[in-house]
Amino acid sequence: REINSDTDAVFVSGCRDPKVEAKNARMNAAFVVLARNSEVDGVVSSMKSLERHFNQWFNYPWIFLNNERFSHEFKKRVSEVSSGPVRFGVVTPPKWNFKEQKSDPVYFKEAVESQGDRCIMYGNTASYHNMCRFYSGFFFNHPLVKKLDYYWRVEPDVDFYCDLTYDPFLEMSKNNKQYGFTIAIKELVNTVPNLFRYTKAFIREYDIQLPDAWSFVAERHNVFHGQNSKHYASVTNRKEFWKKLEERVPMYEALKLSHKNLDLIDQHSLDKLVDHSNKRGLLAAAKNQFDGSRYNLCHFWSNFEIARTDLFTSEQYRQYFDFLESSQGFFVERWGDAPIHSLAAGMFLNLSNIHYFRDIGYKHSTLGHCPKNSPNQLPYEEGERYKKVYHSLDEEYWAKADAPAINGAGHGCR
Ligand code: GDP
Ligand code: MN
Repeated sequence: REINSDTDAVFVSGCRDPKVEAKNARMNAAFVVLARNSEVDGVVSSMKSLERHFNQWFNYPWIFLNNERFSHEFKKRVSEVSSGPVRFGVVTPPKWNFKEQKSDPVYFKEAVESQGDRCIMYGNTASYHNMCRFYSGFFFNHPLVKKLDYYWRVEPDVDFYCDLTYDPFLEMSKNNKQYGFTIAIKELVNTVPNLFRYTKAFIREYDIQLPDAWSFVAERHNVFHGQNSKHYASVTNRKEFWKKLEERVPMYEALKLSHKNLDLIDQHSLDKLVDHSNKRGLLAAAKNQFDGSRYNLCHFWSNFEIARTDLFTSEQYRQYFDFLESSQGFFVERWGDAPIHSLAAGMFLNLSNIHYFRDIGYKHSTLGHCPKNSPNQLPYEEGERYKKVYHSLDEEYWAKADAPAINGAGHGCR
């Protein structure tokens, strides 16, 4: 089965009059931005873009979260560009730092630093691990976020290219959508070597009945994938990696999978993993991680998300997060929140609850989505044909992407 307009159509074709749309009551929703004080320029830039293309009419609140106090300057500058209320929240240490950072600093440091040697993107940056874990397990429980029904995640230095002339929160509610995305890509395999194993163990342990979204999100080749996305980094200096690995065998303590549910995990790979008497076995086990997973690695790129908070505040998601947390994979590996959110969407939602915002032009760093790439009026197969023609992400293209509409997706029409 393919995604087609019956299962997931654009909410609105062409432009509406946003001033008329804005007469509808606001949903219980807000933008959520985790950022550092030093990122204020990037934050302001993202805000300006989203205010211009959407929020100038709808005036939704902006919620800012930080693991430190926001500076006076940060607060002042974001307040200046927001058309809605602004709120600031601090994330306290247990939700930010790993307990191992304090209780077992040598182990923690080794586990994280060695990931640099293994060329795992951002792997040797502890704060990045903190951030991914925070977005996986905690942001939705922050008091400012918890009381919302929907949130729209925004990051510093993102750009929006199309006017959004309707309220996406309202449309999600009307259409019973719980998770919305604009870009789906493949995860870097060496950041999540065991994530899927743990996820499968969780599914068995908790007897999760997988809905139809699962096969699309996790196991099959993802039909959402490829409208426009580009797999931008796969720097794996294998030779260097294996050399370092041999020098650092003690670090392979980190690979001891200690969870009580390990017997549920593929016994064959497990045998190799726990064979610490045998260096060869360890290396084979480590190598095995790179091809042992049947996760197709597809995930929704979570720096853009419009979703319901109760997808994550649910008991089942809490159990999933706790299960993952207990495996230590958030620092022993470098699990991103994107594959975790996506696997959760795959486990807990029906396909009809997931929405592809193909009408929202969006770009962050080297990846973007432009409705021109995937004309939203067309059925999926047609879009597939078009994407081959329009696949392009160079700067010149994006400069033009901010120009007036051609295909009526609300593209720059105002
Ligand atoms: P990337 O997009 O994957 O390269 O990751 P980013 O560096 O953009 O981080 C993702 C989000 O988390 C951004 O909104 C950052 O501002 C935020 N972030 C990352 N690390 C930290 C941190 O240590 N403190 C705070 N407050 N925010 C962070
Ligand atoms: Mn970013």
